[in-house]
Amino acid sequence: MSDNTNNTISVGDVDVSRAEELVLPTSVRWLFPDATPSREAVEQTFDWLKPQFANEDGYLIQSIHTFVVRTSGLTILVDTGVGNDKSRGGAIPAFNMLDTPFLQRLADAGGEPDDVDFVVCTHVHTDHVGWNTHLVDGEWVPAFPNARYLCARPEWEYWSSLEGEAATQQLLDDSMYPIRDAGLLDLVKTDHRICDEVWFEPSHGHTPGHISVRIESAGASAVMTGDVLHSPLQCAFPEPRPALDRDEAPARRARLEVLNRYADTGTLVFGAHFSAPSAGLVSRSGDAFKLTAYQP
Ligand SMILES: [Zn+2]
Repeated sequence: MSDNTNNTISVGDVDVSRAEELVLPTSVRWLFPDATPSREAVEQTFDWLKPQFANEDGYLIQSIHTFVVRTSGLTILVDTGVGNDKSRGGAIPAFNMLDTPFLQRLADAGGEPDDVDFVVCTHVHTDHVGWNTHLVDGEWVPAFPNARYLCARPEWEYWSSLEGEAATQQLLDDSMYPIRDAGLLDLVKTDHRICDEVWFEPSHGHTPGHISVRIESAGASAVMTGDVLHSPLQCAFPEPRPALDRDEAPARRARLEVLNRYADTGTLVFGAHFSAPSAGLVSRSGDAFKLTAYQP
């Protein structure tokens, strides 16, 4: 794996770039609302979290971004952030009515909207499907008109069964139904293969149909874990329930599975909310794990 320019990481012959939407300093207590690990234990992790994933003031640096995955023939987006102009009055006010130049950043990262072939939703949460659509003349229209949007069928079935619950209804109405109604949505299996080098790996728990994205090319290997891991801090503390996991026991199982499977293997782990470079190598550390930030 080698670094090109402009924030791009090569996984064999596949290039991965990131287009950032938001950076949010976040308290450890927010990540672990029930049982915060001891202050001393957390402070030890800051040795390897800093400077990429935590700051001097003791906050985790969380990011919301889209990965632009380019194979020799395809441009694939993994997750699409919060989106502009979306009314999100709920738990995270920082998501409400955004106005960012995200599409320009995406184009700069190699994701010119008209050229996108596939948009992958690892799961249907507000910070992963927002730029599926954007507002044009008062209507929500697909932001990537030439793409197929891929969502695992169990994920779609779960969220559409909650129609009527206010926040979910709003999310479906502004970010999911417009792509379905435009005929751009494909409901696929949780182990769906996009091409030889890129495929889905089931990792449900955070949500019922959550998937991760695997890349293998020319002897190099990577996994995009979506929200199986919210922060590299969870490598050290995989057991406590983080904020927002729907199904606690399966989420913990998925987290431990990913860490055990990819630790010390050379597989690059990309996180949906790991701040730049948003990727690193997992290794065993004591009876848990740590993540070493990707170095070009
Ligand atoms: Zn998320």
